[in-house]
Amino acid sequence: MKAILIIADGLGGRPRDAGGKTCLEAARTPSLDALAARGALGLVDPIGPGIRPGSDTSHLSLLGYDPHAVYTGRGVFECLGMGMGVGPGDVCFRANFATVERMGDGFRLLDRRAGRIASGQEDLARALSGIRLKDVSGVEVEFQASTEHRGAFILRGKGLSRHVTETDPHEVGAVVPLARPTLAAGEGARRTASALNEFTKRSFEVLEAHPINRARAKEGKPPANVVLLRGASDLPRIESIESLYGVRGAVIAGGALYRGVGLACGMERIDAPGATGGLDTDLRSKAQTTLRALERLDYVFLHVKGTDTAGHDRKGPAKVAFIERMDAELVGLLVAELDWDETHLALTGDHTTPIDFGDHSTDPVPALFVGPNVLPDRATAYSEREAAYGGLGRWSGRVLPVLFGYNNWNPKFGS
Ligand code: ZN
Ligand code: ZN
Repeated sequence: MKAILIIADGLGGRPRDAGGKTCLEAARTPSLDALAARGALGLVDPIGPGIRPGSDTSHLSLLGYDPHAVYTGRGVFECLGMGMGVGPGDVCFRANFATVERMGDGFRLLDRRAGRIASGQEDLARALSGIRLKDVSGVEVEFQASTEHRGAFILRGKGLSRHVTETDPHEVGAVVPLARPTLAAGEGARRTASALNEFTKRSFEVLEAHPINRARAKEGKPPANVVLLRGASDLPRIESIESLYGVRGAVIAGGALYRGVGLACGMERIDAPGATGGLDTDLRSKAQTTLRALERLDYVFLHVKGTDTAGHDRKGPAKVAFIERMDAELVGLLVAELDWDETHLALTGDHTTPIDFGDHSTDPVPALFVGPNVLPDRATAYSEREAAYGGLGRWSGRVLPVLFGYNNWNPKFGS
């Protein structure tokens, strides 16, 4: 048997998103509706009723883990998803190139994205990874650039701690804060905060003098002269899906965060050509990569991001258009090519991102299950409203275990 879990980020919606309809209801989705007619629907609270999910915590929950128990922060998933090696004890961060000016002993933020810097980031990253800290002995740094101003950062050394505050002030004009140990944190957190504060100073010296920033200054562009850090976290203790269910699978996702979550759960990473993690992603390529992966693996977790991006941008028509493209180019291709005697598929969102809110809300999301062991309900279309009357009812998280259950992969609890 094979299994596919598709998570469309921020898929859920509210009735005001598209004039009395959700975007999912407004979109023309013949492939999804055909699957809904053959399968069963339910409503899922991604983490629990009334909990506003982050994408990282929500994915852990949908994959069957308790995020309250295993979540250590977002940075580690970004680092893993960008291909950085993360070991026990490493402290990981999300990073931003930013523009600051000196102000006394510290810095004042001028541009949080360094003018959305679009070239030269790799050279700057190499220069940053070459920094040797002096105030705190035995601590190494590694920086990796991702798209535009974004990057990821790791502190490596003995006795470090993730219990430190961030150095991102988030607001232009604000002073870049020093990292501090959080309440009740001990010596390791003090050492980590010292290392971060030295890194902030040294990153300014190294970046300010870098030829790429000199060239940017000549062109009148803001220099990428500091690194802001947030999402301090270390490797979470997660029992792998293979050890829990005895099956092997892969994550296919354009966004580093989602690849990182999959890797942390023991999935293999497979990159689909043209997968961007944006609205312009190549959905056909993702479907084809999924089909190829299933020739040798038991399951695939496939993530698409465009639905959430359109929600954050408060663009209802863009969300509708992305859902329609997903239906035609991704779901349609899978429906045509999969061996439906041997496959169970689940499709859901990791939370709702309503258009007029522009952020994640507490609403439950529709979930669809289809395959030979799924007892069909009376739903004839895939939407939030249909799911509210679905045969599977309403529950919290654990979509992957429910999907795997149809394949008889779950260990018995008790004897
Ligand atoms: Zn999300
Ligand atoms: Zn989001």
